[in-house]
Amino acid sequence: MLRDTWAEISLSRIRENMQTIRRTLHPSVKLMAVVKANGYGHGDLESAAAAESAGVDYLAVAYLEEALHLRASGIKLPLLILTPIKPELVQMALEHDLTLTVTSAKWFAELRKLIPYAASGKLRIHVKMDTGLGRIGIRTQQEWDELVPWLRAEDVEVDGFYTHFATAGQADTGFLEQQAARFLEMKEWGRSSGLAIRHYHCAGSAAALRFPQLAMDMVRIGAAMYGFYPEKLVRSVKLEPALSLHSRLIQVKRLAKGDYLGYDNSYQAEEDEWIGTVPIGYADGWNQRMQGTDVLVEGRRAKIVGKICMDQLMIKLPRPCPEGTLVTLIGRQGAERITIAELAEPLGCAQQEISTSLSSRVTRTYTEYEETRTLVDSMTLGLWNEHMIIDHAEHQICNL
Ligand SMILES: *Cc1c(COP(=O)(O)O)cnc(C)c1O
Repeated sequence: MLRDTWAEISLSRIRENMQTIRRTLHPSVKLMAVVKANGYGHGDLESAAAAESAGVDYLAVAYLEEALHLRASGIKLPLLILTPIKPELVQMALEHDLTLTVTSAKWFAELRKLIPYAASGKLRIHVKMDTGLGRIGIRTQQEWDELVPWLRAEDVEVDGFYTHFATAGQADTGFLEQQAARFLEMKEWGRSSGLAIRHYHCAGSAAALRFPQLAMDMVRIGAAMYGFYPEKLVRSVKLEPALSLHSRLIQVKRLAKGDYLGYDNSYQAEEDEWIGTVPIGYADGWNQRMQGTDVLVEGRRAKIVGKICMDQLMIKLPRPCPEGTLVTLIGRQGAERITIAELAEPLGCAQQEISTSLSSRVTRTYTEYEETRTLVDSMTLGLWNEHMIIDHAEHQICNL
């Protein structure tokens, strides 16, 4: 790592979150860990490996490229691609033992022109039903009836039948109940078809945590594995965020009252002020809507002032701090803590929108144990000694 800006991901947190979720569910419910979008920004391989060691049964990603990346790295768990892939790519998916999402008879007809019979193994599929999200899937019984004959082929294995909720994170459960009721009707279509459908599933993180009775045969856990969940609506469990984000001051300066700062003179000093420059900007995923939010320095909150630049941002310091001082954008310093949940709420975005926005320019470091975080805290607060710094550095190197 050549630049002093890094995300620190606790693999033990990811494992513990999964184990916590496991304990809330009936033991027969299978766990699918969703590691799309580079593991929601936490690293796809590392997240998949952590989920595997927490005992999950399945993995899921959004796209074929993501699945191939996991397979190329030796991940062997059953792996579902949540978005339909082009029929001409199915042969490649079969060679890598991937499970496909199917949303129409038309797709199957196209596929059969290319692969009349899957000689090299089964076509393992999950049928996606649209119960109200309006994104992908089968909406009507007629569409289902058209698909069924294709599913009866000998080389097809209907491993799953699923839907996805639109409002599982909202306080009002009315629409969720409608979707769940619709899915139960559709489940009957599945049952009465006589097909051997192995898993019925509908719940993502929020639904699984709030309504364990919706877990059915399997739950698809993305957000909650990384510690993102609607905390106010889920009293029964406590999950912890796995990711923290840090940088270091690269310059500290004095502005006189009335001086401008930032592009477009976006800030003017109200008094004589200390300003610190932090080497992280919107090209790292810290977008301009973050202007006015806080970071932590020396265990205290400091505000981002002026427009956030592509590569840097400026903060208002209560007093001059040495260059190199740790700046925490997400995570803890002593008693203070900034969570992604706190940042996401006023922006009106999902928590995972922030973690997935962290660009490839932000180095990810991996830590096993909680101590690393504590060490960062004590370093920040000036409580550290040589020994601890060495420990910390070694720890990070060991886990890179
Ligand atoms: C992303 C995704 C999930 C995971 O949802 P979380 O709320 O992050 O747990 C589950 N199912 C589908 C279809 C998805 O696209």
